[in-house]
Amino acid sequence: MLNILLLVAAYLFMEFVAWSNHKYVMHGFLWVWHKDHHIIDQKKARLEDLEFSGFEKNDLFFLVYAIPAIILIICGLAFSIFSMVYIGAGITLYGFTYFMIHDVMIHRRLNLPFLWNHQNRFFRSVVRAHLAHHRPKNKKDFDNFGLLVFPKRYFKE
Ligand SMILES: [Zn+2]
Ligand SMILES: [Zn+2]
Repeated sequence: MLNILLLVAAYLFMEFVAWSNHKYVMHGFLWVWHKDHHIIDQKKARLEDLEFSGFEKNDLFFLVYAIPAIILIICGLAFSIFSMVYIGAGITLYGFTYFMIHDVMIHRRLNLPFLWNHQNRFFRSVVRAHLAHHRPKNKKDFDNFGLLVFPKRYFKE
C-alpha cells in the first residue's frame, strides 16, 4: 500500500518537476535544447498541419528523466528496496503519459489519429492549454508551463 502511494506521489511530483523545469530550465539556461520545440511553432499554425517532424533537441529531456528512473529501478531490484522500484515506476509512467499527451496527442508526432481527435473534455483542455504556450495571445498564455495542471480558464470551450 505504501509503495502504491509512493508511485502516485512520484507521478504527481513529476508534474511539478516538469512544470518547474519547463519554466526555469528549458526557458532558462537550457533554452538551446528547448528552442527547436518552439521554432517549429510557425509550422503549427493550424492543428491540421501538425506532422511528425523527426527528432528535436528537446527530446534530450526524456533521457534526463529516464536515467534517474532507470537507476532507481535497477538499484531497487538489486538491493531489494522495492520502494525505489515504485518511485522509478511512477517517474516512468509520468514520462509515458507526457509522451502520449504532449508528443502524440498535441504535437501529433506519431501517426496515431485515434489519439488526435478526442471527445474527452479534459484532454481537449490539456491540448488548448499547451498550445496556448506555443501560440500565446498574451503573456498569461505563454506562462502556462504545466502539462496536466493548468489554469481553469482553459476548460472553457
Ligand atoms: Zn516551452
Ligand atoms: Zn509542446
